[in-house]
Amino acid sequence: MPIDLHTHSTASDGTEAPAVVMERAAEAGLDTVALTDHDTTIGWDDAASAARRLGLTLVPGIEVSCARGWQSIHLLAYLPDPTHPDLADELEQARTSRDTRLDRMVARMAADGLPVTVESVRDEVEPGATAGRPHIADALVRAGVVAHRDEAFATVLGNDSPYYVSHYAPDPVRAVEVVRAAGGAAVVAHAWSATRGRVVADEVIEEMVDAGLTGLEVHHRDHTPEAVRHLTDLAAALGLVVTGSSDYHGEGKLNRLGEFTTDPDVLAALEDVASGTPVVRP
Ligand code: AMP
Ligand code: FE
Ligand code: FE
Ligand code: ZN
Repeated sequence: MPIDLHTHSTASDGTEAPAVVMERAAEAGLDTVALTDHDTTIGWDDAASAARRLGLTLVPGIEVSCARGWQSIHLLAYLPDPTHPDLADELEQARTSRDTRLDRMVARMAADGLPVTVESVRDEVEPGATAGRPHIADALVRAGVVAHRDEAFATVLGNDSPYYVSHYAPDPVRAVEVVRAAGGAAVVAHAWSATRGRVVADEVIEEMVDAGLTGLEVHHRDHTPEAVRHLTDLAAALGLVVTGSSDYHGEGKLNRLGEFTTDPDVLAALEDVASGTPVVRP
């Protein structure tokens, strides 16, 4: 009964439509999958229809962008009510700010002679989807500047790049409060991701626990054995559940569906906490 609780579609920076992600999940032998696009729930309906057709269980989710100072933190929100005003407002602010930020990054890159325009980047974003750096990467691939997204991030799109511009994101404590108010369960995504620079400090996670955090994503491609050990111990000390997931982005990343999975008891615990949206069962 494999359960994968973290995937992306063209509703944000994945490369496959929500229904296609569900098809791939069924092909990969998954029983349950969460769709967790960045800062949006726009893919939920298509994913739910496809999941019902395929006999898959869908856990509707969101990967909420958060920031504490210069550090970006990702919060997985499972089963929240997407119409809750505070949640809808935070997500809307993040998406709007991401649009402005994309334009500013593209302007900096174009001014430096890179062959990207706002139009060439917009062409890579599905209508209504959350825009991100991977869409700039896709425009650079199309222009023949780099071979794939990874190369774009390694050269011009990294956090330390002169072209980098940040976007609005709520503080992680505020984000946990809003997700809980919307009836969702909150889990910190890839807290010790090696590729994302600084790791999330234990003290910040403790603050999030006080705000109602339920779990930590421990089993993830970006975590070293040391990270897994640390986060497993931290989860035990703080009374948090432990998840594992792929963070699938279609062809945009190497991450494969089901490469890490979550225990059914943990999904049951997340469902116990949540009351905003039901799990979609076939
Ligand atoms: P943004 O949210 O716009 O700041 O962009 C960050 C997103 O880019 C993350 O959610 C990842 O999905 C993606 N990303 C980060 N590093 C890489 C990489 N090396 N290759 C492909 N995608 C990446
Ligand atoms: Fe992403
Ligand atoms: Fe993430
Ligand atoms: Zn993700």
